[in-house]
Amino acid sequence: MKDCLNKLPEEIKDLIYLISDIACKDNTAVYLVGGFVRDLILGVKNLDLDIVVEGDGIGFAQKLAVEFNVKLVSHKRFGTATIMARPHLKIDISSARKEYYPQPAHLPVVSAGALKDDLYRRDFTVNAMAISIGVKDFGRLIDFFGGRRDLLNKKIRILHNISFIDDPTRILRAVRFEKRYNFNIEPKTLKALKESVRKNMLCKVEPQRLRDELILILKELHPLDQIKRAWKLTGLDFISSRLSAFDKKTCCLLERVEKEISWFKNNYHHRRHLDDWLVYFMCLTSSLSIDDVRASCEKFVFRAGEEKRVLIYKKIRTKFIFSLSKEKIKPSKIFASLEPLSYEVILLLKAKYANKFFQKHIEDFLEIYNGARISISGHDLHALGAVPGPDYKKIFSRVLNAKLDGSVKTREEELELVKKLLRTRIHTDKKTD
Ligand code: ATP
Repeated sequence: MKDCLNKLPEEIKDLIYLISDIACKDNTAVYLVGGFVRDLILGVKNLDLDIVVEGDGIGFAQKLAVEFNVKLVSHKRFGTATIMARPHLKIDISSARKEYYPQPAHLPVVSAGALKDDLYRRDFTVNAMAISIGVKDFGRLIDFFGGRRDLLNKKIRILHNISFIDDPTRILRAVRFEKRYNFNIEPKTLKALKESVRKNMLCKVEPQRLRDELILILKELHPLDQIKRAWKLTGLDFISSRLSAFDKKTCCLLERVEKEISWFKNNYHHRRHLDDWLVYFMCLTSSLSIDDVRASCEKFVFRAGEEKRVLIYKKIRTKFIFSLSKEKIKPSKIFASLEPLSYEVILLLKAKYANKFFQKHIEDFLEIYNGARISISGHDLHALGAVPGPDYKKIFSRVLNAKLDGSVKTREEELELVKKLLRTRIHTDKKTD
């Protein structure tokens, strides 16, 4: 694999050679493993180095951290550590370990092991290869379980029959890798997967671990195939037992959601980060009642901001959709309706309701109104004699509404409006223009 390593971008290649030198001085056997090796063979870009050390992984990670002059985050219990060698280059370092599962679907008991033990505890053959970066055998591929052959034949294969019983999260991982690389889950693996589903093993896993794997699926570049496959294979009832079986309606909505997300990213990527995965999650759970969705969010321990966005979507009423589906609405009304919503909710609504006026109002909101600014500031209000406090907010809102609706255009007109409002104290009597 030396040739493949030498073809990597300079920055990563230099890093690997540097780690190799440090390992040599330290007399430590160090290997590249996991997804990095898989993607190297496939020729897919991967900037996350995964390193296994036969011996003290955290000790070796500390030496790397000193060499790169960066901080180290370590997890003593698992013998793992992470450093950001460069702002965009992450290195995960772990001690080679053995695992056994005292109870199905629970976390394994871990002890020190050799490289082969470490590779054997992994999910699939394609993720269970290593490349030595020792000076003597730099670039040697170590492939005990036929991972390279499976990569060439595009197969996802577990390493032993009870793999999905030991760790049912691998079911979601199998689907993710299968669809990401356009591979196939090979027949015996598929049979074992279905057996684990039949035994309801997914529901025995700690929900946060399932959440993490589900989010990884929803974060894939094109997650639709993964979602559909996972849904058909598992029923996704680990999200909620009330989730209906795979149906055409949600499937069509998912497709429209994917289009809207890519439309948004093409046009508004500079606005702010969009949690695409959350839009897909809201879509998947759209047939559930608000109480069931809340229960899922709580079970998965979503962050407060995530749960809030999901629940706001569930609270949207037909009246709201109806009022935004009319042809003629004042821009200030469109702004007032959409501004409190997150982009995730707005995109899902756009995917769901095809009414052409509704679509147009959302597009106008994103294109024009959402970025609209007024020219006056608190200094201006102060200079005009306004009393600092809640009135400021009301006045700003009145001026912005007037600007959105086109009744004021220039800074002078804005100031005139403020004077008028202060004279009549109209801003305290009426909410909007
Ligand atoms: P990605 O490209 O999505 O990051 P990855 O293979 O690097 O894929 P990670 O989740 O970062 O995925 O895991 C790193 C490695 O750890 C995997 O390649 C696999 O060998 C191993 N691994 C991760 N999760 C499991 C699991 N549940 N069971 C067994 N091995 C696992």
